[in-house]
Amino acid sequence: MLVVRRREPFIRPRRIPQKTAMKVHISADMEGIATLSHDYQVDQKGFDYDRMRRIMTDEVQAAIEGARAGGADEVLVCDAHDTGRNLLVELLDEEVEVIQGAPYELGMMSGISKGFDAAFQVGYHAMRHTHAGVLGHTYTYTIAALRMNGRVLGESGLGAVLAGHFGVPLVFVSGDLHAVNQARSLVKDIVGVPTKEGIGVYGVRSLTPKKACDLIRKGAKEAISRVKDIPPVTLKKPIQMEVEFVKPLMAEYASKIPLVKRKDVKSVAYKAKDAIDAFRAFEVMIMVARSAKDEGEL
Ligand SMILES: [Zn+2]
Repeated sequence: MLVVRRREPFIRPRRIPQKTAMKVHISADMEGIATLSHDYQVDQKGFDYDRMRRIMTDEVQAAIEGARAGGADEVLVCDAHDTGRNLLVELLDEEVEVIQGAPYELGMMSGISKGFDAAFQVGYHAMRHTHAGVLGHTYTYTIAALRMNGRVLGESGLGAVLAGHFGVPLVFVSGDLHAVNQARSLVKDIVGVPTKEGIGVYGVRSLTPKKACDLIRKGAKEAISRVKDIPPVTLKKPIQMEVEFVKPLMAEYASKIPLVKRKDVKSVAYKAKDAIDAFRAFEVMIMVARSAKDEGEL
């Protein structure tokens, strides 16, 4: 019997789009977590520190869960507070990776690079001199203000600029209300989850940690859906950086760094070729300012 083999109809092979892994970078700070109200609580020798690191860990885990629910495949967490040894890593999702132990490259944004799709900030706080901001500062209490191209940046803003250098948008922030508002003023459509509000220098009105985690989880999921709509923060180059210190002697010392110019009694200026260059110069200024801190009242 003759078997006539019918030719298979020609089917143009469909190009199956390669799904690349969605990668999220989470920078975790401590001052902005729910309930925290005093410096003692963020100090490793402080009486309440162990409770606070647990709350910090829970908030980061909530952000990871939300990111995963939104479609994140890979998550890198940077333990960005003080010594970088705060998160109880054994309580986190076992598939994430964690950067711990300062000093590290790019400070609180350590690990960020071109391959990431989104940046998150958890436990963030306002910049210094923010009314009703909780423990507001920018990296240290020696800094009164950091400006890049005329714009004042706190830790959140600086993180957004560093992520932006690599083309990565900052899409999520949780922390005190003013930290969230300051992030929003730089990134209009960012998902912001306020966990508390300052009501005095060392006073807060806060959500419970459980409620804060619920909202962080929901917000993180929502943030992943906005990744394509939120542009990275980029600054025109060269970047004109100005750093104002809390004491004149700090500016005097910082002005001795090559290419750094004294601007006024408490400020210096530096022209940076890009965000990385600016950040490195800022880091050195912080180290130099520290040496001036205890020399006298001025
Ligand atoms: Zn901080």
